[in-house]
Amino acid sequence: MSLFVIPVVVAKELEALRARFFWGGTESTRKIAWVKWANVLASMEKGGLNLGSLVSFNLALVMKWRWRFVHGDQLWVSIIRSIYGVQGGCSPWARVVGAVSKLYSKGVVDHNALRRKLGDGKQIHFWSDCWLGRLPLKIEYPRLAALEEDVDCRVADRWSRGGWRWHWRQHITGGVTAAQLEELNHRLLEVNCVDERDTWVWDLADDGLFSVAVTRNWIDDKVLPVGGHNTRWFKIVPRKHLPTRELLTLRGIFIHTVACPMCGLEDETLMHVFGRCEVVEVLWRRVFSWMGISPMLVGNPHSMFEWVDNSSVNGNKKKVMETIVYAVYWYVWRYRNDVVHESEQIRKSELFDFIREVSYVWFFNRQKKVGANWINWLEDPLNTWSRSGIKDQKLKQEKVGPLGLGGGSGEKEF
Ligand SMILES: [Zn+2]
Repeated sequence: MSLFVIPVVVAKELEALRARFFWGGTESTRKIAWVKWANVLASMEKGGLNLGSLVSFNLALVMKWRWRFVHGDQLWVSIIRSIYGVQGGCSPWARVVGAVSKLYSKGVVDHNALRRKLGDGKQIHFWSDCWLGRLPLKIEYPRLAALEEDVDCRVADRWSRGGWRWHWRQHITGGVTAAQLEELNHRLLEVNCVDERDTWVWDLADDGLFSVAVTRNWIDDKVLPVGGHNTRWFKIVPRKHLPTRELLTLRGIFIHTVACPMCGLEDETLMHVFGRCEVVEVLWRRVFSWMGISPMLVGNPHSMFEWVDNSSVNGNKKKVMETIVYAVYWYVWRYRNDVVHESEQIRKSELFDFIREVSYVWFFNRQKKVGANWINWLEDPLNTWSRSGIKDQKLKQEKVGPLGLGGGSGEKEF
């Protein structure tokens, strides 16, 4: 377990290495900007691939030391305390304390994330620990704390025979102080000391126990930017067509570096599966030629969508291109899974036909069928509506369609 906080420069260097490895890149591939890599690291909900950053991993591990420290009856805790003091003095421990404080002060982790759970009250400081609500009571009720006889007292010291007992330095008669006392008494009505040890709760985890994974995700979610490309999966393609579970397993590719199941020749990276694999390359060539675009080398999905965005065709053509690109990724991914699971639902030879069909259905579902014409689509997808005049479009649409879908039931599942 790491007791050391990675310096920012080192973290960046390491992330750059990860990024290069992730994209299956070599020295010659174009450099991925730090910010874009951060997008990849982010969670699925934020449009990333949930890889998690090294910084958050490191901080979560450091946080775990903090968690173990507060649990403190182990020998090492008393040694650290006696040598360095609680704040750590000048030691690795000070860096741990520093890193944790920074997470608090930047609002990444709530002060109260690590809070006391009351047992017998023998370890919890009544006024200075977080145990009732979000803040220490001395901050919530400064006037009362000022009148307390022993501000370092434990909770157990103020609990006696089933009730709360106060020890004030002077009698509280009225005004703001009395109002504070009344409020505090009210909050304490439901609170009892019980016959078990005081414990700690890590509020970020459902079970209250510290988890590196949960903490890491939490930090990443607060720190990493909202990403872009993965959310695009949901923009055009009807959601119900998408097996979210399968999309989620996308991350699995990068975690296990195994040979590509489709060709068995190279490592299975994002770039390879969706672009450079010979099976996929042949497919892209056919798709480009169908769209009437000169073939190009396809990289990862992100750069592909960037290319669509930056292409100089008009809005509708761009939407068609985008839909077709989605369809390619969609079917390549399904095909790849078929190969992995040996289910053989899709054959390699059918991929191109499936892509033409599903992109037609997706596109014209969204366009409310204006200009839908299957034959035109097969011949020249980017110019389908300009070729089918609005007048005869309705007629044609009823007569022809892929797999008999042209008649209207575009919602049908493939
Ligand atoms: Zn391959």
